[in-house]
Amino acid sequence: MKSKLLKKLFCVFAMCAVFAVMPLSACACTTDKGVSPLPSLKEEDGWTRTLYTDFSQYSDIDEVYEKTPWSPSPHGLRKTEYWCDQTISLDSESGDLVISSYKSDNHECEICGVESGVFTGGIETRKTEDNEGFLQAFGYFEAVVKVPDAAGMWSAFWLQGDDVGKIGNGGKDTTEIDIYESSFHQKNRTETGNALHYDAYDAPWYRCVDHVTDVGYDLYDGEYHKYALLWTPEHYVFYVDDNAVWTTDAGGVSRVEEFLRLTVEIRDTTYGPYGQKIGTFENADDGSTDFRIKSVEVWQNENYSPYIQDPSEFKDYEKTYTALLATGITAGVLLTGGAIAAVIIFIKKKKGKKNAI
Ligand SMILES: [Zn+2]
Repeated sequence: MKSKLLKKLFCVFAMCAVFAVMPLSACACTTDKGVSPLPSLKEEDGWTRTLYTDFSQYSDIDEVYEKTPWSPSPHGLRKTEYWCDQTISLDSESGDLVISSYKSDNHECEICGVESGVFTGGIETRKTEDNEGFLQAFGYFEAVVKVPDAAGMWSAFWLQGDDVGKIGNGGKDTTEIDIYESSFHQKNRTETGNALHYDAYDAPWYRCVDHVTDVGYDLYDGEYHKYALLWTPEHYVFYVDDNAVWTTDAGGVSRVEEFLRLTVEIRDTTYGPYGQKIGTFENADDGSTDFRIKSVEVWQNENYSPYIQDPSEFKDYEKTYTALLATGITAGVLLTGGAIAAVIIFIKKKKGKKNAI
């Protein structure tokens, strides 16, 4: 009992120490569904298109890699699944870029290095040795896709920078912006998820704010759907099929350039990113496990330029905060220990008095 109380008090002091030194997220507000403050994207309003990839313009996947900023997501083990370049192809009939997903016991790939496993993939505009890539801070980002209609998996359109992991500036120094995650196939097929990750991916500095919207129609119906983000210096607005589903400035809005990612993840028999059971992944030959990407476009507004910052302008406060956290915990333990000792002495004294009577 005493140790339980001690643990509880220890946790309270630890939490207090963490929250005392960390800026908490600002407001998170939701727009009414159907209210659609889409940007005009007109030149007279300062808009310029900075990226447009219509995958049907290319004859094969190598031409895509050669002529566009897109390249495969890092090849190899992701979590429990492998991201393998072999899963990415161009469908000559529809013109879609297709990311296929499958379990295999005779996978042949030197980089994956395994015969058995679950294989899927992603594409992204990260800057690499072979690819200049494409990065942008602020603007309008849009992808037209058909999400996989199968258990155990989800696709996502997201933005990321290399500086998620720098502590103490909230989301300003880079935020992982999940424009959508399609992990609602099993239940709630009319729902879609958005999330913001900043500061760090691990405790105690992990910060995440997310949001789930019911759009009122099946998003896994085998049709193309448009997922988009308006990222201004003041806030983020997320859209599904041109309707705003979430407006927020949670974490403080990111001000640094980020790259685009369109990926698939598979978590066999476990939970999706919004805590829901996603079922067991099975191979399918009807195309239901395919993630089809038709086009991606990005726009920039000249009025956002003064707000763009370089990641080097942000200091990493991890050491300072870790030291403060340690001090807070030490103080907490000492105070808690003192308080418990005082209670024990008090009880003993009382018992002593009783015995005397
Ligand atoms: Zn591979």
